[in-house]
Amino acid sequence: MILGMSPDQPQCSRADCRDDAAYSVVWRNPKIHAADRRKVWLACAEHVDYLRDFLASRAFPVRVVDGLVDGSGVALPDSPAVGDPE
Ligand SMILES: [Zn+2]
Repeated sequence: MILGMSPDQPQCSRADCRDDAAYSVVWRNPKIHAADRRKVWLACAEHVDYLRDFLASRAFPVRVVDGLVDGSGVALPDSPAVGDPE
């Protein structure tokens, strides 16, 4: 199976969505995660934008990757420009 994730067909992370995941939304929370830490939400094509925007709206670094990955080695951008951190 893929990178140690569930042996079942991975599904979208959106609540109430049971569609097969086709994308990985890789992100981290700069407040609690080290710079090399990666969290991954899986998403179907319909919800990948929703999930990415959800994270981006919280100023989390986020990147969408085609396919299913565990996030390791995915370069995240710096936090979106949502104002001067100072
Ligand atoms: Zn979905």
